[in-house]
Amino acid sequence: MTDLRSMTTEEITAALKEMGEPSFRGAQIFDWVQAKKVRSFDEMSNLPKRLREALGTSFSLSSLEIARRYVSEEDGTRKYVYALHDGLLIESVFMPYSYGNTACISSQAGCRMGCRFCASTLEGLARNLLPGEMLEQIYRMEEDTGETISHVVIMGSGEPLDNYDNLLRFIRLITDEKGKNLSERNITVSTCGLVPQIKKLAQEHLQITLALSLHAPNDALRRTMMPIAEAYSVKETVAACDAYFAATGRRMSYEYSLVHGVNDSDACAEELAMLLHGKNAHVNLIPVNPIKERNYKAPGHAAALRFQKRLENLGINVTIRKKMGADIDSACGQLRLKVKAEQGE
Ligand code: SF4
Repeated sequence: MTDLRSMTTEEITAALKEMGEPSFRGAQIFDWVQAKKVRSFDEMSNLPKRLREALGTSFSLSSLEIARRYVSEEDGTRKYVYALHDGLLIESVFMPYSYGNTACISSQAGCRMGCRFCASTLEGLARNLLPGEMLEQIYRMEEDTGETISHVVIMGSGEPLDNYDNLLRFIRLITDEKGKNLSERNITVSTCGLVPQIKKLAQEHLQITLALSLHAPNDALRRTMMPIAEAYSVKETVAACDAYFAATGRRMSYEYSLVHGVNDSDACAEELAMLLHGKNAHVNLIPVNPIKERNYKAPGHAAALRFQKRLENLGINVTIRKKMGADIDSACGQLRLKVKAEQGE
């Protein structure tokens, strides 16, 4: 069955026309699904009962259940493990930043990219998420917190550009003025570097921010951390990011997970500065979150500051990402595995 929450007003209207319904019902249903965020057809009270029943036999309505919620007492960050309709688990995070509430959402259940510092990929990819399931992570968070979410980062489990069509549809739906009406500028998509899809995304001329998970300034080191580096060199990946900036005017964000003794040397900082010299870019340093299945450790605070200073002195715009929810800390993908283990699966 087609997921109604993944459809545009025009698509709903066309489907209803085939069912012999008047066209104004399309906008009514879109309003129920994306603005009022209902979870069942029965709640669509201005539709005749026979139409609600007919919708139930032809369409599904994506909805998630909160399997676990962890709330930080330090800063109000909330980490969610959501159960999908088929029992798969995904993670999302609510972060109350000073500039607005931010949702970090997943785009896939699991991931097949194999980055060595990441727990989301330990069991591979289960499946792509539907646009409606990506929207639902935000809607359930707003319902649970009673807060409005103004910024969305697609940085949870999964490689968003590996689920390209659903990602694009998600962006179109969440920016629809009859739905949540989020600004494209408040959306960040993080990729490990799928070069053809970055080039394709550039041609969509969206005003979203693209964040590249770079993590190493050269091919040899990047290959030890990320299998994607076997497919695309650092040079061609950064060139694709340049093309993204040229097409959209959006400043690139480069994510760099700092790993003690691996990529946190002065030489790495200098090589990184040379790579990004003169670009309209921002580097986000993220001391790595250790996972027990891998032997990566974060550098100490002083070492992270030294790396940042080195980049700054070489003219690079750089910050160390503020850690949110430190008291409920765990690396991306770990909570899902923890809840799964508790459930005895
Ligand atoms: S870091 Fe992102 S792309 Fe890499 S394995 Fe984890 S979820 Fe996948």
